[in-house]
Amino acid sequence: MTVEGRIALVTGGSRGIGRGVVESLARGGARVAFVYASNSAAAEEVVAAMQAEGHECWAIQADVRSKEAADNVVSQVLEKWERIDILVNNAGIIRDGLLATMDAQQWQDVIDTNLTSVFNFCQAVTRTMMSQRYGRIINMSSVAADVSNPGQANYAASKGGVEGFTRCIATELARRGITANAVAPGFIETDMTVAVVNAAGNEIKKKIPARRLGRPDDIAGAVMYFAADESSYVTGQVLKVDGGLTLGGL
Ligand code: NAP
Repeated sequence: MTVEGRIALVTGGSRGIGRGVVESLARGGARVAFVYASNSAAAEEVVAAMQAEGHECWAIQADVRSKEAADNVVSQVLEKWERIDILVNNAGIIRDGLLATMDAQQWQDVIDTNLTSVFNFCQAVTRTMMSQRYGRIINMSSVAADVSNPGQANYAASKGGVEGFTRCIATELARRGITANAVAPGFIETDMTVAVVNAAGNEIKKKIPARRLGRPDDIAGAVMYFAADESSYVTGQVLKVDGGLTLGGL
């Protein structure tokens, strides 16, 4: 899968799945800028690790919920590298709670971070990608868009929104050489899932035909396919990467 020489921008690249994506893109020969919210130590660690391997990697602190911040990040990347070929909208949060008791802030935080951010960054890169006649947009969804557990109405709504949004912009941008696809992970071992995994442990694994949790690298592999030159005729798709969790075969 070729990303050699490409310029990539990844949101939420300091930890978990985003870090795996940053590392795969950089090792594939792309120059990678990534956005993080506040954990500077984690961001610096990623940059140092990539630079030690001889890759170009750059961390930018910004809040993906803000349109102004997204425009600003994109301007900085364009000023430095003059193009943006690959955008990975990965930043996301959970704020679980049952509908009866979920407060408006829990709802809004998840919608803004997981869905509005995708609008913010896609719109910020669109003109550039259109004039390049080249672009790869990959949005992070979740299997929760399709199969949800109680307590995740905000999260399920945000990820369902991401998938619908992705299909729509795919139709708008295809003629300009831009693809837009989504990856929907199952249970992946990251800071986001640590509490659930600690609480449920082996019970979760029994529900996964692959009998293991996913790793950030498993998701990065799928992102690399959509990010590569070779996937130019694939757009508007959602690829589940979940070890068979949603097949319903058990
Ligand atoms: P994670 O380990 O909690 O990392 C989240 C990343 O997003 C961090 O880099 C964080 O930055 C950044 N971020 C959060 N809010 C932000 C904001 N307002 N502005 C800028 N950056 C922000 O999460 P993860 O598990 O890797 O999840 C990544 C994506 O995959 C999310 O969209 C999630 O919904 C999706 N997903 C995850 C799983 C799973 O099992 N883990 C399953 C399905 C889907 P800081 O380091 O500065 O906090």
